[in-house]
Amino acid sequence: MRVWRCFLQQSLASGDEVQLPEPLAHRLLNVLRVRVGDALQLFDGKGNEYLAQLTKLAKSGASARIGERVDVQAESVLSMTLGQGICRGEKMDLVIQKATELGVVRIVPLITERVEVQLDGQRLQRRLEHWQQVATSAAEQSQRSAVPEISAPMALLDFVFPGALLLDPAGTHRTRDLPMRSQLSLLVGPEGGFSRREVEAAIAREALALRLGPRTLRTETAGLAALAILQSQFGDM
Ligand code: SAM
Repeated sequence: MRVWRCFLQQSLASGDEVQLPEPLAHRLLNVLRVRVGDALQLFDGKGNEYLAQLTKLAKSGASARIGERVDVQAESVLSMTLGQGICRGEKMDLVIQKATELGVVRIVPLITERVEVQLDGQRLQRRLEHWQQVATSAAEQSQRSAVPEISAPMALLDFVFPGALLLDPAGTHRTRDLPMRSQLSLLVGPEGGFSRREVEAAIAREALALRLGPRTLRTETAGLAALAILQSQFGDM
């Protein structure tokens, strides 16, 4: 029988009985169709994971008894942050889902000159909650014990710092020439790319403009390809 992994945003300890939040109770009851007595695996997103048994599952609420601690080793030695130029709905979801599977610890939606998506106020808040849920589901599915943080959007030039890796089809650096590192930040342009002014300003701040070969990749391909290469070169793939 499949044991579902579920993220719980609270501290967990063996022997405790925990109330499950309403959205998780709804998913267990109506989507995953588990039953009282079934086993779950609960994790807190900070590296702690436990076996658990469902003790109550009803429309009025759900709870579980926490059992033994489980040792999960799915976090990479390489700490990767992805700065992704905000792209349209389903592309951004895809990037967040796959980047989580590839092991990023943080995703920063970047506001750049050519970003076409307008987000503010309640719309921004709803989108951030949605993106965080996409990352949580991907972490549950990919056996990760940490859930990447989706930060509030930042302007590109507020995010750039010396040594940041900016993906640019005209870049002069190649991944294979990068020195060994245990952490990195990767910046990817939106659908229309970074403007030359942005690239030059980032290079002036000592970012490295990185080229991924001769083909122009779509924004959702470029970041994911680079993350896989970098995880393979410096991490655990
Ligand atoms: N014409 C745009 C340009 O020249 O930047 C293409 C933009 S591309 C669809 C979107 C983003 O993907 C780029 O801003 C860059 O960050 C990344 N990208 C795509 N292909 C790349 C490549 N071959 N090397 C490095 N980055 C690439």
